[in-house]
Amino acid sequence: MDKIKMTTPLVEMDGDEMTRILWQQIKDELILPFVDLKTEYYDLGLPVRDETSDQITKDAGEAIKKYGVGVKCATITPNAQRMDEYKLHEMWKSPNGTIRAILDGTVFRAPITIDKISPVVKNWKKPITVARHAYGDLYKGTEYRVPEKGQAKLSFKGENGDAFDEVIYDFECPGIIQGIYNKDSSIESFAHSCFKYAIETKQDLWFSAKDTISKKYDMRFRDVFQEVYETTYKEEFDKLGLTYFYTLIDDAIARVIRSEGGFIWALKNYDGDVMSDLVSTAFGSLAMMTSVLCSPDGNFEFEAAHGTVTRHYYKYLEGEETSTNPMATIFAWSGALKKRGELDGLKELEVFGEKLEEACIDTLNEGIMTKDLVGLVEDGSATAVLTKDFIAAIRERLEKKLA
Ligand code: NAP
Ligand code: MG
Repeated sequence: MDKIKMTTPLVEMDGDEMTRILWQQIKDELILPFVDLKTEYYDLGLPVRDETSDQITKDAGEAIKKYGVGVKCATITPNAQRMDEYKLHEMWKSPNGTIRAILDGTVFRAPITIDKISPVVKNWKKPITVARHAYGDLYKGTEYRVPEKGQAKLSFKGENGDAFDEVIYDFECPGIIQGIYNKDSSIESFAHSCFKYAIETKQDLWFSAKDTISKKYDMRFRDVFQEVYETTYKEEFDKLGLTYFYTLIDDAIARVIRSEGGFIWALKNYDGDVMSDLVSTAFGSLAMMTSVLCSPDGNFEFEAAHGTVTRHYYKYLEGEETSTNPMATIFAWSGALKKRGELDGLKELEVFGEKLEEACIDTLNEGIMTKDLVGLVEDGSATAVLTKDFIAAIRERLEKKLA
């Protein structure tokens, strides 16, 4: 069989620990035998990030901007313990944060669902995609521990003379205050990414916040979404029979739980952080969550939602064979290859991505799975296998599909 040709390189970003091992296995067994793989390789493993003073991460982000599609392995975000473990020169920032800042994108997370594992919420039939605004709010807030009696104020001084100065609270005792912000430009990009992704995946879009209480802050988000929808996307939504609606977050939660799934739920930064964990847990496993960063100008970065699975890596270093789930990382590759195929008009590459995903799902539905999933199969019709045997089972099914 001739290998499938590519015309534009994928931006390939290698990573750390157990997922770095999975990365190589996936390439060797499931991609390289079938695809004449063209990538521009960036090693985002912590040692190279340290050697290059993290320049490698910035270069990778710029490369995604140049080529349009990237695929990323999970990476360590250093903390004090990692400084020691890797003898780092600096506590480098999260690569995901750095790349997101370059691409200005929104992260969409969706579970891979299979028949054998039913979600905790019985009526969920289709995946729910959570779109989290990954900028500002609590994550860029300023906080102060009020130590004594005194007055707290919110003030603003505009370049052209606009001014605001209002009492937040007259403290009669110690307490706490917090200041958060967001920018119209960032909220607009968030909205554009969400509408674009909804059109691309042909799913309805919901947006929820707390505008009844936060009449300026959350209301601004609501208004921006409505404006962007009406001026840019309404026509296309109507044509495709898609719906956009805003609802109060309380109401959204009730609706999400009662729904069948199959839509995109856009949320502010904190709400998205918390709700994406809730949705992934209710669907089954973190190891089955896919994640794609979409920028408002149409660039894509595919990855798994989970981390580098450190505990398994330490076992691997001791010579133990692990049963680590490669699903989300395989889907990062298939997603990236499908997108490259679509952008370059390479039908064969797109079909390859689809078949790879089918082979994975077939393997799971036949009861061959990694340890983390076996416990979730209620009828006990599944067997835990090692990662290498799981990947071999996928390869066997993939070869049949491609023959
Ligand atoms: P993690 O790597 O996601 O692992 C947490 C636990 O979840 C694991 O110990 C494992 O449970 C289970 N798990 C996650 N993925 C799995 C898989 N594919 N197969 C089987 N089990 C899986 O999160 P963490 O331990 O908090 O973080 C480890 C490192 O990853 C940190 O250095 C962090 O900075 C980094 N991180 C990177 C990203 C990213 O690059 N996107 C995201 C999150 C975290 P058991 O041990 O019980 O089997
Ligand atoms: Mg979280």
